[in-house]
Amino acid sequence: MPEPTDLSLPSTRKEALRVRSTRYFTGLACVHGHMSDRYTATGGCCECVNKRTLISEHRIRKAARDLGIPLKEYRNRRAVKAPRSDSLRSWLLSC
Ligand SMILES: [Zn+2]
Repeated sequence: MPEPTDLSLPSTRKEALRVRSTRYFTGLACVHGHMSDRYTATGGCCECVNKRTLISEHRIRKAARDLGIPLKEYRNRRAVKAPRSDSLRSWLLSC
């Protein structure tokens, strides 16, 4: 569990907004028990956000692997908006 990187962080979101800090640290655990900084923009726990990002990255890598295409190519295809009527899988395979 990471410690807050800067102990001089504001202790409330309101104060963080006032001093334009991107993060703040309340000293309280999030609902998942992390003692972590929070993002001022969303109020979200940094560790929760990092874990969600890792899970998302894992899913992207797995999807590319399952489709049998290189990760870079999969990312490029995802960057282009898919037609609404097609499923993502069939659209990706048709490119
Ligand atoms: Zn958390």
